[in-house]
Order: sequence, then structure tokens, then C-alpha cells
Amino acid sequence: MPLAREAPIAKTIRMRVLRVMIRCPATNRAVDTGIETTSPEEFASEVFLGCKVECPHCHTVHAWRKEDAFLLPDDTPSTGADLWRPNAYRP
Ligand SMILES: [Zn+2]
Repeated sequence: MPLAREAPIAKTIRMRVLRVMIRCPATNRAVDTGIETTSPEEFASEVFLGCKVECPHCHTVHAWRKEDAFLLPDDTPSTGADLWRPNAYRP
């Protein structure tokens, strides 16, 4: 009879999330667009049109294109001086 094992829940269930970020053109700081993706491949396959984000740094709305964006792993420590992550989720 096989022994019941504790499943490594955190490793099997937790999906790696990448946050789609842009740079504020005025302050050059990272801005969270509020969009998430699971892999660079998925991001590459997605279409983003007319994306806008309200910038927490300069308080204007930035229109952005996919080419402007970069991906940030959600488990990146949020202590970086140039990062501002209002929706950071810690389980
Ligand atoms: Zn800005």
C-alpha cells in the first residue's frame, strides 16, 4: 500500500506569474500595467492595442505598446528603489 505523501503544494500549484511593466518616460521608473502573463512566449503571442496606464510616478496617463513593455517575475522582491508595485500579492 503506498504511503500518503504530502504534496509539495507550493511548487505544483503556484504558477509563475510575470507582470507586464513599462517605464515611465518622465521619471524612467517602472510602472505596473496591471497585466500579467505566464511566460515570455505567451506574452509574445498576445496582442495589445491601445494600452494605457495611469502612472503613479508622474500622475499622467501613458499610452504604451508591447515593444515598450518588459516582464518582471512576480516573486521579485519589491524593495528595489525604482520599483513601485501597488498590487504586489504575498500569499
Ligand atoms: Zn509617468
